Amino acid sequence: MFNSFIQAQTCIQVFSTFHELCTAIRLDYPPPHCSTAQTSFYPRLKAALSSHWKAKSLFDKLDKRFLSKEYFADQRSHKAGGFRAAQDLKVKMGTRNSFSQMLAFSLKYTGMSQVLIIGAGPCGLRTAIEMACLGAKTVVLEKRDNFSRNNVLHLWPYIITDLKTLGAKKIYGQFCSGAIDHISIRQLQLILLKLTLLLGVEIIVNVSFEGLCPPTSSQVFADGWTARVIPDNHTISNYEFDVVVGADGKRNTLQGFTRKEFRGKLAIGLTVNFINRRTTAEAKVEEISGVAYIFNQHFFKDLQSSTGIDLENIVYYKGDTHYFVMTAKKHSLISKGVLKQDSENTNELLCYSNIDQKALMQYAREAADFSTNHQLPDLEFAINQFAQPDIALFDFTCMYAAENAALFREVNGQKLLSCLVGDSLLEPFWPMGTGCARGFFAAFDLVWMTRQLAMKRRNSNNSVELSVLAERESIYRVLHQTTPSNTMKKHQNYTIDPNTRYVNLNLKAVHVDQVKTLYLTDRE
Ligand code: FAD
Repeated sequence: MFNSFIQAQTCIQVFSTFHELCTAIRLDYPPPHCSTAQTSFYPRLKAALSSHWKAKSLFDKLDKRFLSKEYFADQRSHKAGGFRAAQDLKVKMGTRNSFSQMLAFSLKYTGMSQVLIIGAGPCGLRTAIEMACLGAKTVVLEKRDNFSRNNVLHLWPYIITDLKTLGAKKIYGQFCSGAIDHISIRQLQLILLKLTLLLGVEIIVNVSFEGLCPPTSSQVFADGWTARVIPDNHTISNYEFDVVVGADGKRNTLQGFTRKEFRGKLAIGLTVNFINRRTTAEAKVEEISGVAYIFNQHFFKDLQSSTGIDLENIVYYKGDTHYFVMTAKKHSLISKGVLKQDSENTNELLCYSNIDQKALMQYAREAADFSTNHQLPDLEFAINQFAQPDIALFDFTCMYAAENAALFREVNGQKLLSCLVGDSLLEPFWPMGTGCARGFFAAFDLVWMTRQLAMKRRNSNNSVELSVLAERESIYRVLHQTTPSNTMKKHQNYTIDPNTRYVNLNLKAVHVDQVKTLYLTDRE
């Protein structure tokens, strides 16, 4: 059963095999809505599967990772309601200390124990893993039950280390085994989904987050913050949480965050996936890790003279599919009949009715054929989630970023930490592969913030929240400048602690006075 779970290749299969496994070992999944039930889930699962060598090798990886001291607090703050010191525990338990014993001491003391994450994309799931390590009861809402995105992501080196440390290769043997380090979005989601389930995170699919419901009463046994969801009769609408994380991609639905826009010159992207039949001929075709016009003008001029296709760059990765992504110049899309009418308005230009789908498919096929030197034998389109050929034009002229990474809401005395991660926080610039890299950084930063808040929360005055907010915004200021070359070199040392990742970080760049507007309260 464990093997079936590990090998499951669709979201639904992952859930059904996991349920079978839990039923067979008499473990309740999802664990009841309290953080202790969730934190004891993984140790119990692990104990039940201890004789299975494959499970053991994965759990050994997870254990090692989660013994990280950042998930525990020192003795003084523990007495004051914070975390327990990892070091203390290590001393007490000697060399036989176990993950199960250590986890039991974590976040439950902090009053920050219930988390809701909106979206099971790569960044939402990566956040869930860290939240679970911290000991928080974590629920992820996902509006779909189908991971169908074939598009392939190039991963920064630290992400490869991060995922390998979590045991990604034990789950998906081909993980980053090719010439270029990449993975399809759906495979990445499947790996992360399996890890989150093993940690007892509750993942609810086919439920869409619609908004927040503030507590209605300020009585002693007041209700807490809950979510309005579709379908509206779903029991998760009764789940009360203290932290909510918007990880639902660039169309972020979590209220309260304003966005700023970065506008460049018109940039039209084209993604296309062809079926990979894994033949010898296909295996021989070399990937293209990114050819940009300035580096290889010869190639692009030849392409234009032979096909009429004018591109600024092109990338080709081989995985479950043959994936191409390119930036096409408007004039060539018009002259090749892909765009029916020219328009200065990008929405009008790229709206469905202005695109000739047949011409678009021909354009993509010709570009792929030329750039692989006509070596790919059979350019048959893969199918997307809408049962259509997997090809799309998209506009990335404008990119959006949230003005702030986090805010607090207080209604009837109940405080809620609201945060954004991933594309909801900062839209990626795909030619630099910034999506998951900055998205995972934001996930770690947010979990660090939760930890800091729990550590500092001794009284109920605002200054704790404001100082933690100021620190979070200071870290957010450097996020959009990060590149593989200006971050810490020792990737194996990366943790949720921002000092392990960012170079020259000034945690006091933003002052408490500058974040007062991010504390929204109904108090007089
Ligand atoms: P998403 O992947 O968008 O996931 C959001 C999830 O939330 C989805 O599963 C969605 O169904 C769910 N959801 C949405 N609304 C709701 C709701 N109301 N309730 C519940 N669930 C909801 N990144 C890289 O790292 N490397 C690359 O090489 C790269 N190349 C790219 C190429 C292109 C052409 C594009 C467009 C992007 C590329 N990216 C790349 C970016 C990368 O795809 C994203 O950064 C990454 O998928 C973001 O993950 P996320 O979890 O923030 O959001």
